[in-house]
Amino acid sequence: MSGRRGRRTLSALAGGATLAAGLSPTVQDDRTVVHVAYDAVTTGHSTGLSAIRIPGEPAVLIQPVVLAPAGPTVDGSALAKAAQLAERRAVESRIPRTVRPVAGIITSNFGARWGTTHYGLDIANSVGTPIRSVADGVVIDAGPASGFGLWVRVRLEDGTTTVYGHINRYLVRTGQRVRAGQVIAEVGNRGISTGPHLHFEVIDARGNRLDPLAWLNARGAGYA
Ligand SMILES: [Zn+2]
Repeated sequence: MSGRRGRRTLSALAGGATLAAGLSPTVQDDRTVVHVAYDAVTTGHSTGLSAIRIPGEPAVLIQPVVLAPAGPTVDGSALAKAAQLAERRAVESRIPRTVRPVAGIITSNFGARWGTTHYGLDIANSVGTPIRSVADGVVIDAGPASGFGLWVRVRLEDGTTTVYGHINRYLVRTGQRVRAGQVIAEVGNRGISTGPHLHFEVIDARGNRLDPLAWLNARGAGYA
């Protein structure tokens, strides 16, 4: 056979080796022996590449053909989605989170009551029900308080003070940092109280007493 024919055969074999990756073909063409062993399909690597020898022609190497690994692939869109998710989580982590202070039934709202002003929101539940800090902040009081028996006060990051009164016991100490949703106390019936409930107050950074229910509602943590 001519050298020209041999080169065409080589070319075909090289292409064939790529397509037949995973096989270990031994191809006979006249006296030309090609042995190419690939495990590219399973590992992404080529192995056992051998020279092709054609009588009267220089030996020619088939270049390794490395196929994409068969395992999970990471493409551009997957990376973009991961980046978007990470960015969304970072943004969410910067949004102040607000939660309800306690589960229960509202028994008294903010405003005029019995000829005086009730500055809190009363939420009734059984003694021992967990009370949670409504947002991230620092405990500024945890202990006895006139009228409330025991209370916890938490100053939030924007300077707002939250008050949790009539509690049965507190689970934090003054100076402690707390996170939104962290259990800080338990519902009690201490102080001037007509039954187990949480008295919850919100005082803004300028000292104005706010309507706690409106404040919670505005932050998506209200009571239906
Ligand atoms: Zn009250």
